[in-house]
Amino acid sequence: MCFATVAVSCKPEVEEEKEYDQPVVESIIFLIGDGMGVSQIYAGLTANRGKLNLEKCEFTGFVKTHSSNSYITDSAAGGTAFACGKKTKNGMISMDPDSTALRTILEIAEDEGLATGLVSTSSITHATPASFIAHQINRNRYEEIAADFLKTDIDVFIGGGRNHFDDRTDGRILTEELKNKGYTIAYSMDEIAEVNSRKLAGFTAEMHNPRISHGRGSMLEEALQAAIKILNKNEKGFFLMAEGSMIDWGSHQNNTEYVTDEMVDFDRAIGKAIDFAENDGHTLVVITADHETGGMAILDGDMDEGTVEAAYTTKGHTGTMVPVFAFGPGAGEFSGIYDNTEIFFKFMDLLNLEND
Ligand code: MG
Ligand code: ZN
Repeated sequence: MCFATVAVSCKPEVEEEKEYDQPVVESIIFLIGDGMGVSQIYAGLTANRGKLNLEKCEFTGFVKTHSSNSYITDSAAGGTAFACGKKTKNGMISMDPDSTALRTILEIAEDEGLATGLVSTSSITHATPASFIAHQINRNRYEEIAADFLKTDIDVFIGGGRNHFDDRTDGRILTEELKNKGYTIAYSMDEIAEVNSRKLAGFTAEMHNPRISHGRGSMLEEALQAAIKILNKNEKGFFLMAEGSMIDWGSHQNNTEYVTDEMVDFDRAIGKAIDFAENDGHTLVVITADHETGGMAILDGDMDEGTVEAAYTTKGHTGTMVPVFAFGPGAGEFSGIYDNTEIFFKFMDLLNLEND
């Protein structure tokens, strides 16, 4: 209040609380390293001779990964927790444990006018990307998952899995249906890099892409950049999920070289995402994993030589917490220890989205 008779200056008694908040989050790039625990990261850092782009992230946290019916999650329940904010049973794709479809952050963002995209090194119909766009009781229903892509208005998706769209038991040619919905269809990274339309379906393999040492090249970082280029045309911002799928697969095989190759490749994509966010100023980058795989431990290493010696306790997934890293506006929200489902709610809040 201001009493002019008493006060010399007419200042309110209670000063308005000044908030020096970070810039508004307009876009989110969510990067999932499947199976990426702390040992996978440190093995990659060592193989990369002592550094990773990941280290540019100022905020880190830990995520509890268990699913609704298992101490040890799989990628379907793990992806669903991130995508929908709900724990479900292993194997289920964005449905609750009673098989009711849940809206995903990608679907909500798309409905609210954001541009949306998915990128993966595996088939784009595999559990992790599928969790953001499909609703199926079983992650192995790849053709049904592919058909679910037609039920959204996702703007860009790039990955393997062409056969699930074009070589189907029901005879539907989904790429024709996508064309009719306005998508440009591309079948190689060269073609994808040229695309200038606002809707793109990019298929880089009939099934999964090869692992990095078998000729995948720089597909992941190029696909990420191609997706960002298209999504960034939308003035209201975008939501993009990109997955380094095969850190998990190397860990399942207890193959340390496979793990480090895939980790370093994933980190190159992280570098591109952070570069974009740094220039843009309104993009949040969050990097995490759905679970750890292999129970990997590092026994020895040499930063100068880039060599790592590791041991494994299982060929499956483990229940340990996984790290989260964040860069950009809103990054501070991601420090602490919380359930995987919280990632969804943090994204919803930061993007000012409502699930109704
Ligand atoms: Mg995956
Ligand atoms: Zn796995």
